[in-house]
Amino acid sequence: MTGKQKKTLIRIIVSAVLLAAARLFPFEGWKSLAVYAAPYAVIGWDVLWRAVRNIIHGQVFDENFLMALATVGALATGEYPEAVAVMLFYQIGELFQSCAVGKSRKSIASLMDIRPDYANIEKDGQLVQTDPEEIAVGDIIIVKPGEKIPLDGIVTEGKSTADTSALTGESVPKTIYEGSDVISGCINQSGLIKVRVTKPFGESTVAKILDLVENASSKKARAENFISKFARVYTPVVVIAALLLAAVPPLITGGNWSEWIHRALIFLVISCPCALVISVPLSFFGGIGGASRSGILVKGGNYLEALAAAEIVVFDKTGTLTKGVFNVTAVHSDDISESRLIELAAYAESYSVHPIAKSITEAYGKDIDRDRIASSQELSGKGVKAVIDGAEVCAGNGKLMDEIGVSWRPCHHTGTTVHVAVDGEYAGHLVISDEIKETSAQAVADLKAKGISKTVMLTGDSKETGEDTAGKLGIDQVCTQLLPAGKVEEVEKLLKEKSAKGRLVFVGDGINDAPVLSRADIGIAMGAMGSDAAIEAADVVLMDDDPRKIAKAIDISRKTLRIVRQNIVFALGVKLAVLLLGALGMANMWEAVFADVGVSVIAIINAMRAMKLSK
Ligand code: ADP
Ligand code: MG
Repeated sequence: MTGKQKKTLIRIIVSAVLLAAARLFPFEGWKSLAVYAAPYAVIGWDVLWRAVRNIIHGQVFDENFLMALATVGALATGEYPEAVAVMLFYQIGELFQSCAVGKSRKSIASLMDIRPDYANIEKDGQLVQTDPEEIAVGDIIIVKPGEKIPLDGIVTEGKSTADTSALTGESVPKTIYEGSDVISGCINQSGLIKVRVTKPFGESTVAKILDLVENASSKKARAENFISKFARVYTPVVVIAALLLAAVPPLITGGNWSEWIHRALIFLVISCPCALVISVPLSFFGGIGGASRSGILVKGGNYLEALAAAEIVVFDKTGTLTKGVFNVTAVHSDDISESRLIELAAYAESYSVHPIAKSITEAYGKDIDRDRIASSQELSGKGVKAVIDGAEVCAGNGKLMDEIGVSWRPCHHTGTTVHVAVDGEYAGHLVISDEIKETSAQAVADLKAKGISKTVMLTGDSKETGEDTAGKLGIDQVCTQLLPAGKVEEVEKLLKEKSAKGRLVFVGDGINDAPVLSRADIGIAMGAMGSDAAIEAADVVLMDDDPRKIAKAIDISRKTLRIVRQNIVFALGVKLAVLLLGALGMANMWEAVFADVGVSVIAIINAMRAMKLSK
């Protein structure tokens, strides 16, 4: 409990004791008012004060006003204990609310635990703890077993296992050794490792995740916006209705004024909209928190809401459904030696971040002497063009060869062919093959089971490779040989094809598909493999690149929305029923208070379930 919450609790206890004491004195008239004024002041002064302050600021209608009006009205009509009780229960409800919000904040904050406190660097043979923000790219940091890896980097020495569960929800630790990439936020488990830092702290994985999570609650779902608008109209309507209820029946029937004022006050107490106002955002907050615990970062309530209506899921191939780690399976050179062909290809690719490029430079294995590269250019969806040792080298697919007017020959090997041309002459090709992720087929099946009506794969790769992959995974439709712009066109066609209520999800790694990620209704990016551009353009980020998380995310979003709907129906239902009873004179002030606080408490407990949806 925070200090403020403790103070409220103390006020509740003091006021309850004073109320009980006051009931022991059978006073009448002003004496009675005096003994009840004490517990009323203890519990209600801040509500009254806020109501007055809001009126001065011209924002009359809020729950403070409702409560102040109802209780002052009750005091004026001589219902002293009731007035105190209404305030008392209102404050109990508020306290409960603020504890619930605090709890879900904390659950998201437990994700914040990934924030590293320090990084060890070696100085004169001593380990010095340094602020991660002060570490520069290229520095060597030392991570002891049990410590958090503070920055992204590459292991230069040592062997260990890393617990990535805080980031990905994945419970099996990852083995790391010399040359492995490590990301900040993981726990180094078994051995001492040295890491060469590759990104400053501000751009590290941890910093990015924390940014995303902190900004997530600012993007409101439609349901949230609806509720806050609703409350703005609702409260004045209720106050006017209460006034009418107090004045019209006695004027028409000449009946008992105090009886109708009493009913109007009950009406006011019941109609406080707190249950809705708090529980709807809390549910979304919880859903986002629950999703992030399983390694799914949702950038806002609006995206969580949209995911529930997913109808078409479109995948990129490389890096999304496949591992994006290619092996060179064949090398066919024409006039030059095979090793020269690989060397040229690796040099040409050395500036590219495409998975193909990484695999070729890895297959080459030797260090790249950057001085030999005069220029280098990436041609999205086609390949690369570079000047190496003064010769123009192009490496890429048939499209690229056609473009530069080089005749090429197809290869009988299955896999992706990377053709190489030197100074406009065909030099040969490498065949590389990618593996389908173990979880991809299950991911597609899970989506089908969730009622997704269509799955589509878009790829820049060849027809054979593309159709082969799609066939193995059970994907409904496949479009191959697409340039990035072509992918956008295909997505636009699919957007027209889907129903008005349905949403189109695009899942990619951001390499050659960042434009599509932003064009789709919901863009999902692979966080670990994916480029920074993808993480920025996407609405949802999967921390560990497991495509099964897509169905999981849809599941969490649907359950969150179900909770939201339950709360709206339940709260409005109970309130309406008690309102009717109150207007008919069949509910008293006590029942009204219990109905109001009770509904709030139940709605909040229900909303908190959203946090546990990851399990
Ligand atoms: P996907 O849509 O499957 O993710 P991309 O759009 O990234 O594939 O790439 C499409 C095709 O373009 C690749 O299959 C490859 O033939 C070619 N290509 C793209 N980038 C490169 C590169 N850096 N080197 C060689 N070929 C490339
Ligand atoms: Mg790709």
